Amino acid sequence: MDKIVILGGGESGVGSAILAHTKGFEVFLSDNGAIQDKYKAELKQHNIPYEENGHTEDIILSATEIIKSPGIPNTVPLVQKAIDKGIPVLSEMEFAKRYTSAKMICITGSNGKTTTASLIYHILKSAGLNVGLGGNIGKSFARQVAEEDYDYYVLELSSFQLENMYSFKADIAILLNITPDHMDRYDYNMQRYVDAKMRITQNQTEEDAFIFWEEDPVVTKEMDKLLSKGKQYTFAEYKAGNAVAYEQDNKIIINTPESVFTMEQDLLALEGTHNLYNSLASGIAAKLLDITDENLRKSLSDFQGVEHRLEKVARVRGIQFINDSKATNVNSCWYALQSMRTKVVLILGGTDKGNDYSEIEQLVKDKVRALVFLGVDNSKLHKFFDGKVSTIEDTSSMKDAVEKAYALAKEGDTVLLSPCCASFDLFKNYEDRGDQFKNYVRKL
Ligand code: ADP
Repeated sequence: MDKIVILGGGESGVGSAILAHTKGFEVFLSDNGAIQDKYKAELKQHNIPYEENGHTEDIILSATEIIKSPGIPNTVPLVQKAIDKGIPVLSEMEFAKRYTSAKMICITGSNGKTTTASLIYHILKSAGLNVGLGGNIGKSFARQVAEEDYDYYVLELSSFQLENMYSFKADIAILLNITPDHMDRYDYNMQRYVDAKMRITQNQTEEDAFIFWEEDPVVTKEMDKLLSKGKQYTFAEYKAGNAVAYEQDNKIIINTPESVFTMEQDLLALEGTHNLYNSLASGIAAKLLDITDENLRKSLSDFQGVEHRLEKVARVRGIQFINDSKATNVNSCWYALQSMRTKVVLILGGTDKGNDYSEIEQLVKDKVRALVFLGVDNSKLHKFFDGKVSTIEDTSSMKDAVEKAYALAKEGDTVLLSPCCASFDLFKNYEDRGDQFKNYVRKL
């Protein structure tokens, strides 16, 4: 019997284990660290053997195929050994796609994936389609393929997942943007990260669609290497090049083969230029899926947004507090700063992923009244910003950061948590960081 070994016992791995088990494979799951109790209970319930806190190499290298969770780099020795032995190493998506014929709407990009995937899901679901949302969000795709029967999937795909996808094909592929992120995992080699992202278009035929940002400097350069035969649809802030979706005279326009959709820009639920892009990309996908103008208009205007992304928390004595804890790279902070209409006290810092802060230098000079660094090691931030901003405070707890930011802000200002960094030095994850921020703001 074919034996599937799964590396990683989180949502992705456990979902894959359940699917592989349901399909009659011999399954073994192995995690280098501890597996959460709820996942262990599920594995036991399905009689799936597993190990935690270490890998038994013999068992793993006896697999017919290995499904690797996206958190594990391809470069770890065990994965390398498997590859050298000729064992196919797949991502969850590659495996699960074999067992569904649903239409795939796939979103990648350095920033905006969760927002756009959630928005498209909202549009399709509100229009009455039988649709699942997966990938990096919520329930794993593999688990849904095992337990549900959807006609459409909206999948958020990271570069890590895309790296181990080979025959997978997106019916609609959306590439929002490419800016440096996760450079630490790509040996500071930007092209490797770009190549992984571009895989979103692989295997596409004339029947499929590739939606991307007309003016993305990185993606534009890749176009001559593009293998996708998918029809191209691009979006831009204003009418440019071949863009089919853009803003004009305070209206958004989406011009697809079947129709021209228009809507007052003020009615869009999501604010800021970056979110205009997200709404335009979602709108193109929706029109290609024949969502009516009326349904699309309604969903683009009543979408609730996603927590921790430019989330308005509270106004305290005339100071607006905004939680953008999910801004874990410099580019997302750039968009946050760019959308600010007041002076800003910016809280930033955490685990640096190879950041280059020069991208936000001008916006910081123009808009930032004071910087509050929040991290175990703020030295890289000091090196860059000292002498460029007159007021800088160091903190190492969220409580202190919120209180210092509040003290530095003037009436009418915004206190913005948009950290440019990962959160693991002081917090469990970015959600924990955002939750703590909201909690201390509400105590002011
Ligand atoms: P991802 O899932 O790709 O990390 P999110 O939707 O969670 O993206 O948003 C992450 C951060 O990036 C947030 O701070 C958000 O404000 C910002 N952001 C959202 N959409 C875009 C975009 N299209 N371009 C740049 N930044 C964006």
